[in-house]
Amino acid sequence: MWHPFRARIAKRMFLIDKFGRRISDLRISITDRCNYKCVYCRSGSDGPQFAELSIADYLRMARLFVSLGITKVRLTGGEPLLRKGLVDMVGELGQMRTLEGEPLDIAVTTNGHLLADMAQPLADAGLSRVTVSMDAVDAVRFARITRVPSGYEQVVAGVRAAQRAGLNPVKVNCVLLRGFNDDQIPAFGKFAREEGVVVRFIEFMPLEEDRVWSPDVVVPLEEILQRMADFMPLREIRRGDSETARRYVFEDGVGEIGIIAPVSHPFCGHCSRVRITSDGKIRTCLFSVREHDLALRMAAGASDEELADFICHVVDQKEERHHIGEPGFVPASRTMVHIGG
Ligand code: SAM
Repeated sequence: MWHPFRARIAKRMFLIDKFGRRISDLRISITDRCNYKCVYCRSGSDGPQFAELSIADYLRMARLFVSLGITKVRLTGGEPLLRKGLVDMVGELGQMRTLEGEPLDIAVTTNGHLLADMAQPLADAGLSRVTVSMDAVDAVRFARITRVPSGYEQVVAGVRAAQRAGLNPVKVNCVLLRGFNDDQIPAFGKFAREEGVVVRFIEFMPLEEDRVWSPDVVVPLEEILQRMADFMPLREIRRGDSETARRYVFEDGVGEIGIIAPVSHPFCGHCSRVRITSDGKIRTCLFSVREHDLALRMAAGASDEELADFICHVVDQKEERHHIGEPGFVPASRTMVHIGG
């Protein structure tokens, strides 16, 4: 019998959703545990809520997605560096090849707390890139945000270790909240220039455990540019077609800044992502209200062909766009820490 999965492989067809978007980017959350309690993300009292799969299960899922055209895999959480077996997992991902026969682009998003010791082993295992989340460049403020004392020095040491390990350019992501850390904008400009990292500001989205989001708290792209200009003006540079961040350099060419503006300038039309949660559910959008249980099918003994067909069917249902800020907005069925950002 001619099977749709085999037909796709024979034709080397990629995952394309019903809006014509090619899905090339898979994010896998390998735990929803986190060692930070960032005030805009976590409530401070809620711990992990979802199961973790074995690393072998995540790898089987990754292999299936790669066989369907995924070229980038980002490991996230929770805090992915808490997960035992991460380095070996990166090594296994490093053995996989895209449909074009190229190595995967393998990235990790981390709070950086454990990165100083892990950057080199991760780079040796085949990690391509690392993104470190940092919401202040001041030790006292950093502790207030993360609710962990003395994290700042450790995270900066992690950033530098990643650079030494060749995971360049290291990206530093900062979520801006009005009246909370938006005064850090010029300090981040200085940090980008002095440390040689790409600092990317992210607009705050309604994905937190404590429902504190409101449109007034979001610091929009134009305002970030304006406030950075008081430090030093930025000039926009070209970005890749599916790149979510708008890219800028300072006028003297030293230091790169990115702005990811899902609220003020949504980029859903170019979205190339799909996510797997720590408990093995597929999410086709950060704001999905429905999940698709891949782990359950795997545990029930489904074949690779059956799972690949399920993935294609699910991707086809990917939401056209999010509805942040619109009347009737329905919150996502999970918050960021339990999805995997
Ligand atoms: N623990 C890792 C880390 O800190 O990068 C990975 C998981 S964390 C949930 C991923 C990213 O999501 C972080 O950069 C965090 O700042 C961001 N994030 C969390 N809540 C967010 C929100 N409501 N809006 C925008 N970004 C958010």
